Amino acid sequence: MLRSILKNTTNKRISFLSKQRKNIHFQNASPTALLLKNRIVGNCNYSTSSKASPNNSNILTSLIPGVLIGTGLSLGTCYFLGLFDDDDDANYQSVMPLDELSPPKYCDDPNEETEVIARLKAVLGENPDNFSISPEEIDSHSDTYFTSHHATKEQRPQIILYPHNTEQVSQILQICNNYSVPVVPFSGGTSLEGHFVSTRGKRTVVLDFSRYMNNILELHQKDLDVVVEAGVPWEDLNSYLNDHGLLFGCDPGPGAEIGGCIANSCSGTNANRYGTMKENVVNLTVVLADGSIIKTRQRPRKSSAGYNLTGLFIGSEGTLGVVTEATIKCHVMPKHETVAVIPFPSIALAADCVSTIVGEGLQLNAMELLDDKMMKVINQTGSTSRTWLEQPTLFFKVGGQDDDDIKKQVSMLEKIASANKAIKFEFAKNDDEKLELWEARKVALWSTLDAGKKLNPKVNLWTTDVAVPISKFASVIDETKKEMESSGLISTIVGHAGDGNFHAFICYDETQKPIAEKLVDNMVKRAIDNEGTCTGEHGIGLGKRQYLLEELGDAPVNLMRQIKLSLDPQRILNPDKIFKIDPNDHEH
Ligand SMILES: Cc1cc2nc3c(=O)[nH]c(=O)nc-3n(C[C@H](O)[C@H](O)[C@H](O)COP(=O)(O)OP(=O)(O)OC[C@H]3O[C@@H](n4cnc5c(N)ncnc54)[C@H](O)[C@@H]3O)c2cc1C
Repeated sequence: MLRSILKNTTNKRISFLSKQRKNIHFQNASPTALLLKNRIVGNCNYSTSSKASPNNSNILTSLIPGVLIGTGLSLGTCYFLGLFDDDDDANYQSVMPLDELSPPKYCDDPNEETEVIARLKAVLGENPDNFSISPEEIDSHSDTYFTSHHATKEQRPQIILYPHNTEQVSQILQICNNYSVPVVPFSGGTSLEGHFVSTRGKRTVVLDFSRYMNNILELHQKDLDVVVEAGVPWEDLNSYLNDHGLLFGCDPGPGAEIGGCIANSCSGTNANRYGTMKENVVNLTVVLADGSIIKTRQRPRKSSAGYNLTGLFIGSEGTLGVVTEATIKCHVMPKHETVAVIPFPSIALAADCVSTIVGEGLQLNAMELLDDKMMKVINQTGSTSRTWLEQPTLFFKVGGQDDDDIKKQVSMLEKIASANKAIKFEFAKNDDEKLELWEARKVALWSTLDAGKKLNPKVNLWTTDVAVPISKFASVIDETKKEMESSGLISTIVGHAGDGNFHAFICYDETQKPIAEKLVDNMVKRAIDNEGTCTGEHGIGLGKRQYLLEELGDAPVNLMRQIKLSLDPQRILNPDKIFKIDPNDHEH
């Protein structure tokens, strides 16, 4: 008898729990449901909810200990008696398929919306610079002309908030979580795949860190790390570090800030030597959806203590938590470095040269590939002070302990390049030449856009990136280039060749959009078919959600969704990015 009562109770709880997983809305939930919500959500702070009536909280306070003890006793007894049968275990899901979710419900009551805004403003204080609803700022936090995925007219947030510190971010998220208000974190706004589009329209709140949370907090020169707030621009951090003989390892788009660099796991031309953001973050301070503040770990270079929470948030594109502070690794600036520029007869030979360099274990500071069209466009637009050979060209940074060290590497580089039919070699003899030679690499994207706009002022730019194993780099880039050339569109290719990562910049007007789409689609599919990834450094955002599924398959993406739901059950944090969170979302 006892066994059957216990079994029934337990089964009900388990089936209730799995129902809750399918329908994760807890508004108006019973105390027991709230308790179970806590089991799923973890550390939710209901005491701050303006919606929880005092009576409710009293009932909760008196019921929770009793229910907890009762639940604990019955679950414990069941476990002891071995009453969890195999069927129950089999029903448990480690992953969350999209079609088993109910659509998220966001705040859509105008009275509540007004209340939310008043409460959010109260957190930030009276200063009108702490928030904005000006149409210009709403627009600049919705879209940019260089992104590949533009926001629609409706995809505009309601308000931009400029928090001053982590505590304020925590209070803001508590309020947004309690009222189910979508929140989009925003740093430099340079991401390229629609990462910060307010997909949930004007009920969205954007959190911008650039105005106040832009301080470099501590430099630990001996430990080679620096503690910064999320809104520090990477270029400012780099020049601060340069003054101390150090540098920041990543170099994404001009204007990008540390929060966005972490959220997108960015990298750039230096990744070959210093790694991506995944290798450059020591710890993070993160505010979770319910307002909890966590620090992912202390400051040692390595740690095997527990889960890699730091890694969980890097590349999560603002969907799991909001980064407010980070400890970032710094690197000692190379005391001796030169730049080499080597053109090749074909892109395949240039790419082969890179594979050989990697295979020989030659450690260069950067290896960048610009195709012949890119070199031509740089000449046409006069973006640099010299005229270049219009051939696929490799740009190298060669660093070392002293000049002899550099000479040795340069001679090895020349040998490998000659074997791959290099047309000529050019090495910078001084710092000015070094800058001049590297300049061509830096102006690549804008030169392509300038060239396109000269022909047709209405052109858009589609920037996309993929990465493949080094052994496949030459064939994948070669095929991609051939297809782009035959398309008739102005397009260029630039590669972080040492990482097997390359970008295409494609100019198109509205009538040519289907051609551009097809080129990108084929390029991404080609990379995936060659054991590569749909993005090496730009991230998924909105634009590559379908490709993430094609690359990984359903189960890993369903696991990501499950992780998202366990941290953010109401799906308020940067909704709809990386993967779908709504079965009614029929966008690509
Ligand atoms: C000209 C140009 C060149 C580029 N070159 C490179 C390159 O070489 N390598 C490269 O990797 N990328 C490059 N990029 C892309 C871009 O610079 C990177 O993706 C960069 O990391 C974005 O940072 P951001 O500060 O602009 O982030 P944003 O665009 O503001 O945001 C990016 C994402 O991060 C989230 N986010 C922002 N702040 C936070 C936070 N504090 N906590 C949690 N989530 C947050 C946002 O919600 C969004 O999903 C380039 C872009 C341009 C325009």
